[in-house]
Amino acid sequence: MSTLKGKTALVTGSTSGIGLGMAIALAKQGANIMLNGFGEKDVAIAKIKACGVEVDYHGADMSKPVEIEDLIKQTDKRFGSLDILVNNAGIQYTANVEDFPADKWDAIIAINLSSAFHTSHHALPGMKKRNWGRIINIASVHGLVGSTQKAAYIAAKHGIVGLTKVIALENARTGITCNAICPGWVLTPLVQQQVDARAEREHISNDAAKIALLSEKQPSGEFVTTEQLAALAVFLCGADASEVRGVAWNMDGGWTAQ
Ligand code: NAD
Repeated sequence: MSTLKGKTALVTGSTSGIGLGMAIALAKQGANIMLNGFGEKDVAIAKIKACGVEVDYHGADMSKPVEIEDLIKQTDKRFGSLDILVNNAGIQYTANVEDFPADKWDAIIAINLSSAFHTSHHALPGMKKRNWGRIINIASVHGLVGSTQKAAYIAAKHGIVGLTKVIALENARTGITCNAICPGWVLTPLVQQQVDARAEREHISNDAAKIALLSEKQPSGEFVTTEQLAALAVFLCGADASEVRGVAWNMDGGWTAQ
């Protein structure tokens, strides 16, 4: 099945974790892929090539608007269009507000929120010309509810849910949709760091730290997988989702049902 054959998808922060999972799933549906991120790009490129589609990589730093503009231009130039934009790049830092370093605040707002404005700003004119587009913002349960020690991350994720609604409304009479996906805990490098920190802080094993993390917030006691999230992204790209507009769709083991 190649439901996205002929389309081009850009997934920001796609050298690991959720972004790489999204890129692989979109490639399996036939979309050509522009990868981005600071991880092991050769491994990511090989995984996409194995899906039998065209792939390229751009190393834009998503905190830098000039580099983001170049990323969109190069995607257009290399593939002839940018049809699916997955705003996924993100970082985390944890501290109480009074201890939160200002530079960490600025970096998280730039990478987790402002980058999605800049990519959309440059991608929308082309999507409008072709009257087709999918913008998928990887928000978080933390775009819907709060937690302690994550001020910048939660402000950015609530912000991206708001941006999602505005882009959806501004394009409601076009073939362009914009939606957010709000994952609970997913065991990626970003969360593994938090597991490691907890194991060290509480003098417990890595497995015990994982159980502690999940049992605090995620009623299912299971991590959400990158494959499950990618399947939702593929659905949002399809014709059946053409009237799904401006939602913040959680997949979180029950986290936000509490
Ligand atoms: P990850 O650390 O595996 O991936 C993050 C990606 O972003 C990597 O490819 C990294 O190189 C890239 N990146 C970081 N800074 C960048 C920058 N300045 N410019 C370009 N790329 C940059 O993390 P992940 O868990 O896969 O996170 C992906 C997204 O999912 C993030 O937006 C995160 O907030 C969100 N999310 C993750 C979870 C979770 O439990 N893992 C839950 C909810 C939401």
